[in-house]
Amino acid sequence: MKVYSLGGYEEVGKNMTAIEVDGSVLILDMGIRLDRIMIGEDTNLQNITTKELSRIGAIPDITPLRRKKVVGIVVSHGHLDHIGAIPRLAKRFKCPIIGRPYPLKLLASMLKEEPTAVPNPLFELFETSITIGPFEISMVPVTHSIPQSSFVIVQTKEGDVVFTGDYKLDEHQELQKPLSFSKLKRLDVKLLITDTTNVAIEGMTPSERVAKTMVGDYLRMIEDSPHAIVSTTFSSQIERIHTIIEEAERINRKPVLIGKSMCKYYGLAVDMGIVDKPVQMIRKRDAMSGALKDIHQHKKDFLVITTGSQGERDAVLSRLTDGKFPFSFERGDNVLFSSSIIPNPMNRAARYRLDTKLKMQQVNVAKDLHVSGHASREEHRKVIRTLSPAYVLPCHGCPDMLISMAELCSEEGYEIGRQVIINRNGQSATI
Ligand SMILES: [Zn+2]
Repeated sequence: MKVYSLGGYEEVGKNMTAIEVDGSVLILDMGIRLDRIMIGEDTNLQNITTKELSRIGAIPDITPLRRKKVVGIVVSHGHLDHIGAIPRLAKRFKCPIIGRPYPLKLLASMLKEEPTAVPNPLFELFETSITIGPFEISMVPVTHSIPQSSFVIVQTKEGDVVFTGDYKLDEHQELQKPLSFSKLKRLDVKLLITDTTNVAIEGMTPSERVAKTMVGDYLRMIEDSPHAIVSTTFSSQIERIHTIIEEAERINRKPVLIGKSMCKYYGLAVDMGIVDKPVQMIRKRDAMSGALKDIHQHKKDFLVITTGSQGERDAVLSRLTDGKFPFSFERGDNVLFSSSIIPNPMNRAARYRLDTKLKMQQVNVAKDLHVSGHASREEHRKVIRTLSPAYVLPCHGCPDMLISMAELCSEEGYEIGRQVIINRNGQSATI
């Protein structure tokens, strides 16, 4: 078995790994790196050429797979750093794209917006498995911060591979049951390819239930306010958006979703029956002005949920502070960030600018009403102990994160360099 590290081994983003058995190759995720350009959730990627994305290192370099027989592309979940490069790179391979329904439907809507057609068929995988060449592929659902995330299981004659995608071990999510360890225990795991994003953080990541409590408590504290309440989170954080909608109704405010990407992600979740709370959604720029004029005149009746948690200039929250809509903030209005700042210099600068503007407009700001969607150190230890893989390939991180995972494996009795493989982008390893 040969494993190719193609992206996400020197950065957070553009995740892509591939495994080769008997001359057939299976690709695991194909993501984009968002901080290479100022890509916000509402940015139109269609305006940037593939050549340009490649030149700035925003998409993986697939040169090592040239002339290889690629038989499939599997997606672990629907975040852009896992599926964002598919519209540009998948057509280089004549093979199907396999995943659970929510990420595949998101992908289908992205592909529809592409200027040139992407001919790869999409194959939705539910409870069963699919065999392609030497690979038997199945999914084990896991908790993360977007619906229908999965551990990808690839069984081969060389042994089983478990690719974690992104995950946390959360016992209390409303939209996703906890990870089923009984299914994993039955495997004979040769290789674990694992997320490392938060492995350096000790202990366990708090449950989504904690974020729900934080948001609910804060909103009840300001429920008598006659002023505006505007909240923001990640567009794909469907469970959180669902929570904010529920809490808005509890304090007798009408929830309104404003922003193209947020309406796309949430609308799809409503259409698929993942969430049961339809809500007013405003995705088009021209409709936003009319709605926001009304909201400005009746501030105490609404709770706006919108895009721009990273301070992106073209997102709705920044445009609100810049006075681009017939809505203005005034003293006593409230802005809630149910999000963290994705740690890169561009986001920090953009948020500094947004936070300063909010302060100048005398808005009350609540930050970090949020929990992470990534496992901390002890959750990773539990997965390593349960799977007891022969080899571990840390991925999804900068070198310091990969090394932190190697140290954890070392604590668990693994030999770094022999059983724990530290790769850079473009490197491969034969097991
Ligand atoms: Zn993710």
